[in-house]
Amino acid sequence: MIPGPVSVEDRVLEALARPVRAHYGDAWTHLYKRAVAGMREVFKTTGEVHLVFGSGMAGVEMCVASVLSRGDQVLVATNGLFGDRMAEVATANGLHVHTVRPGVAEAITAGHVRDALAAHPQVRAVCAVHHETSVGVLNDVEGICKVAREHGALTVIDGISAVGGVPFEMDAWGADLCVTVANKCIGGPIGVAPVAAGPRALEALADGRPKAAGWYLNLATWRRFAEAWSGWHPHPTTMPTNVVEAFDVALTGLLEEGVEHRWRRLAAARDRVREGLEEMGFQMLSPITTASPVTTAAYGVPGMQVADYMAWLLREHRIRIGGGLGELSGKIFRIGHMGRAAEPEAIDRYLRATADYVDGHGLGRARG
Ligand SMILES: *Cc1c(COP(=O)(O)O)cnc(C)c1O
Repeated sequence: MIPGPVSVEDRVLEALARPVRAHYGDAWTHLYKRAVAGMREVFKTTGEVHLVFGSGMAGVEMCVASVLSRGDQVLVATNGLFGDRMAEVATANGLHVHTVRPGVAEAITAGHVRDALAAHPQVRAVCAVHHETSVGVLNDVEGICKVAREHGALTVIDGISAVGGVPFEMDAWGADLCVTVANKCIGGPIGVAPVAAGPRALEALADGRPKAAGWYLNLATWRRFAEAWSGWHPHPTTMPTNVVEAFDVALTGLLEEGVEHRWRRLAAARDRVREGLEEMGFQMLSPITTASPVTTAAYGVPGMQVADYMAWLLREHRIRIGGGLGELSGKIFRIGHMGRAAEPEAIDRYLRATADYVDGHGLGRARG
């Protein structure tokens, strides 16, 4: 029940166990393009999608480096580990990074970004995480995109733990570049980072300025192969064919369920966890208005050793949950609601185990 990677369904595992197929040819190209079309529905875009073989951060690096040149100014809005990581990626690619950083577990709003852009008018791109998984907080990406667009800046959205699980509308919100992964809300295997690019991103790609990107993690390279080798090999290199097949199975499941239905189902899982924990006396890190529908972060009850509770859950119940990071380490724990962890039976089993721990250690609110 960690906030990713997620436990996947048996049919996804079965796809991983099939014989290895080639990453080219008619059947392969058909499968690849079907998955690309499916991801357009999930991102809610008519833009371009590539299934980058790599982790989520590979996709983030690709987006940042493909449209910006060394020395360009970028604004990274961060409220946790993954926002900080976007800033690290931008710095490593030779960009001049400004950050805007609200308080711990506070959501990033359009106002934060508007003020930062006013202070740094030369900024060419705004980078933000939709769901900051390290604290379970949902940022106002719709508002951030609107403000960035008014400023004439591009937006790069890390939707790694959001897309497919949280309301997100790439075209309607005017996001220019967005990254997600198979192994979070989509419920697929590790190894694929779908990247989506809208028209303004493609314009920036072709504006003739030398970009920070090299060859592999360069959207221009993926674009070139998708066009030139469209009929038999629409990507630059060998692909993890089993992983993409398994991803396609998970994605088909998501589309059959319906993207909006998945959004609601994960939010209901979040509510079930939150209510169960609150009833035992746990305090949530965020109010419901900014709490992510896919990860719940809660403080340990007074007197609780969070590390001991987590180790006990794993040892006695084989349930793994996430801990706090940085200054929240030892203070909070995090429950993921993606993949099989969203099943009501799994949640109830987790809540019963937690109630046993709380009662057994004389913690929490007196119940009954
Ligand atoms: C998991 C996660 C990442 C890291 O993705 P990798 O696949 O490990 O590169 C980045 N951003 C967010 C918001 C995440 O949840």
